Amino acid sequence: DLAPEAPPVRTTCPYCGVGCGVLARPDGEGGARVEGDPDHPANFGRLCSKGSALGETLSLGDRVLHPSIDGARATWDAALDAVATGFRRAAAAHGPESVAFYLSGQLLTEDYYVANKLAKGFLGTPHVDTNSRLCMSSSVAAHRRAFGSDTVPGCYEDLDGADLLVLVGSNTAWCHPILFRRMLDARAKRGTRIVTIDPRRTQTGEESDLFLGLKPGTDSTLFSGLLVHLADHGALDTRYVADHTAGYDLALERARRIAPSLAATADATGLAEDDVARFFELFRTTERAVTCYSQGVNQSAQGTDKANAIINCHLATGRIGRPGMGPFSLTGQPNAMGGREVGGLANMLAAHMHFLPEEVDLVRRFWGAPNIITGEGMKAVSLFEAIERGKIRALWIMGTNPAVSMPRADRVRAALSRLDTLVISEAIAGTDTLRARNAIVLPALAWGEKDGTVTNSERRISRQRRFLAPPGEARADWWALAQVGQRLGFAKSFAWPNAAAVFREHAALSGFENAGTRDFDLSGVAEITDAAYDSTAPIQWPLPRKAKSGQARLFAEGGFFTRDRRARFVAVQAPKLADATSAAFPLRLNTGRVRDHWHTLTRTGKSPRLSAHRAVPFCEIHPDDAAAHGLAEGDLARVRTPYGAAVLEVVVTPGAQKGLLFAPMHWSEANTSSGRVGALAQGAVDPVSGQPELKATPAAIAPE
Ligand code: SF4
Repeated sequence: DLAPEAPPVRTTCPYCGVGCGVLARPDGEGGARVEGDPDHPANFGRLCSKGSALGETLSLGDRVLHPSIDGARATWDAALDAVATGFRRAAAAHGPESVAFYLSGQLLTEDYYVANKLAKGFLGTPHVDTNSRLCMSSSVAAHRRAFGSDTVPGCYEDLDGADLLVLVGSNTAWCHPILFRRMLDARAKRGTRIVTIDPRRTQTGEESDLFLGLKPGTDSTLFSGLLVHLADHGALDTRYVADHTAGYDLALERARRIAPSLAATADATGLAEDDVARFFELFRTTERAVTCYSQGVNQSAQGTDKANAIINCHLATGRIGRPGMGPFSLTGQPNAMGGREVGGLANMLAAHMHFLPEEVDLVRRFWGAPNIITGEGMKAVSLFEAIERGKIRALWIMGTNPAVSMPRADRVRAALSRLDTLVISEAIAGTDTLRARNAIVLPALAWGEKDGTVTNSERRISRQRRFLAPPGEARADWWALAQVGQRLGFAKSFAWPNAAAVFREHAALSGFENAGTRDFDLSGVAEITDAAYDSTAPIQWPLPRKAKSGQARLFAEGGFFTRDRRARFVAVQAPKLADATSAAFPLRLNTGRVRDHWHTLTRTGKSPRLSAHRAVPFCEIHPDDAAAHGLAEGDLARVRTPYGAAVLEVVVTPGAQKGLLFAPMHWSEANTSSGRVGALAQGAVDPVSGQPELKATPAAIAPE
C-alpha cells in the first residue's frame, strides 16, 4: 500500500450516480481515511453518510482472493482456460448466441468496454445486458425516443440555478443526498420551490414545498394533464416547438384523452384538485424549472411513457438545455452512464450506436471484428427466462448479485443451474449468487484497488483511482476479459497494457467517422497519454476533437440527434399497472433503497454506523392498513406476493400510502434469513425499455 504520509489520492465514490469526488488517505495497513474532494464539481467537498463511511468498508475478511473452479482453488491460467473452453463449447454446440454476459453499473467503463467488444464483435453474441436494465433503461429509451440519442440535456449547475425543482419518483434526500443538499442550498439562496411527486411521503416529500402523493403508476396522467394545462394557458414556446420538434399535435391530442381536465387529472391520480392546480401553476409560471426523475418513474412497466410525458412538458415550453431548465434523469448507480456509453445494454451496439447497417459496419471496421452482431440481444428479464429454458448455455456474471436483485429472484437463482458454464467475477465471498451453484469464480478488484473511469448523471467522467494493493490474486475485470479474448484466438484485439489504453480505444471509437451525427463523442481525449489519464480532472462529454472542454448543456437551440435534427413529442399511453390486485393480494408492494445502505449490503453492511440506521429488513405500512391486518409497530409480518414471501419487521407510518407497502431491496439470504425482497417482485416489463416493474406488485400481509 501507499505510505501513510503519501498525499491523498483523488478518486470517486462507488455508490450512487451523483459521482462525488473523494480524497482517500491510505493508512499503510490496508485501510484509508476519506473526505470529500473540494475540487470535484459534483460535491465540492461534501460526502453523504455512505460516502463518508467508505473507509469503514475496506476490510478483507470476506473477499474472494483466488480463482476457483467448482469450489476448488485454481490458478488464473486454469480458470481462464476453463472460461474459454466453456464458451467455445457452448458456441460450437448451440451457436454463439448461447453465450451471454450479465454486467453491472458498478463496473468501470474500461471493464464494460472490453466485455461488450468481446461479446458483440468477436464471440458474436448480442446477449449482453446489465443490472442497469433495472435502474435507468426507461430513461435511456425515453431519451432515444425524444432526442434520437441517450443524452441528458443538462448538468448539476441547473439544480443550483433553478427556481422550481420537480422531483418525480425520487427520494432524492436519501438516494442522491448530495444533490438534494444542492437543492436545499438553492432554496436558501434564491427561494427555489421544491415539489415532490411520489406515492410515498419520504424525507424528500417532508422537506418539499408541495408534496403530491399520487396513486402508483399515474405519473403519465399527471404530466399529460400538465401538457394540456400549458397548452390551454398559452404557456407554450411556440417558436421552439415549430423550429425544433415534431409530433406535438398528436401528443397533445393523446394527453387530452388521458387527462381532459383538472378534475379528471385529480381524480385519476388520487390527488386534491387544489394541489394539482398549484403544481400546474408553479410549472407554468416558473421558467427556470428542472424536473428530476428516478426509479419511481423508471422501474415501471410504463416507465418509458412516464419519462416521455415529463420530457414532453419541457419540449413544449422550450425549457431544455438552458441554465436552470430541463428534464433530468438521476442515474442510480455509479457507472450506469458509462455502461450506456460503451453499449453495455442489449439494445445498443457501442459508443451510443445501435443497429443501423452503417453503424454496424463502422463498429465492425473499427474493431476489425470477425463476428459483429447485427441486432439487439435479450434484456435482463428475458435473458434469465432464456437461461431457464436452456437457450443460454454459458453466462458470465460480473459485479452483480442477480439472485437478490432481479425480480422473481427465486426463479432466477434456480435458472442458473441450467447453465453448462457459469462464470462469476466477484469481489465478495458468499453472495447469494455465488451460493446458487458451482461456478468458475474469478476474484475481482474492489473500490480502492481498481483503476479506471465512471460517468455520473451529468455526463461527467471521473477517475476511480487505485490507492490499495490488490488483495490475494484479485485482478482487474478488463484484464480477465482480455485474457479470455486472447485464449479464443483474438490476441491482437485484446492486448491492452493498461486501463488507459482501453479508455483511449473507447474514446477513439466514439469519434470514428463521427461528423457530429452522434451525441457521444470523446475524441478530444482519444490520444490522452497514460500520464494525462492518471492525472485528468473530471470531464463532461461531448468532448469532440480539438474542443477545449466538454459541453455542459445541449439542445437549447435544437440540434437533436434524429435524422431531421428535431426532437419528438411522444403520444403516451393511458397508464395501467401491469398486474391487478385481487382478494388474495389486495395491496401493492413497492421496493427501493434506504438512506445508509447500498444494493445487497456487500459493502455498507460492513459499517456498524451505516447499519445502525436500519438494522433489519422491514416493511412500511399505513396505520389504517396495519390496524386492518392486526399489525403494530415492531411486529414481524409475512409479506406475500404471487412470486414469493419474506418476513419483515413492521414499520407503521402515515408516510405510506393506504394500500401500498414499501420494503427495501438490500437484504438477502447472505445477511438475513428472510428479507430477500427481489423474490417477491413481479417480472412484468416496460414494452419499450424492458425495465421491470418493481414498484407495484400485488401483495398480501399478515402477522407472522
Ligand atoms: Fe457517494 Fe452518492 Fe453519497 Fe455522493 S451522494 S457520497 S456519490 S453515495
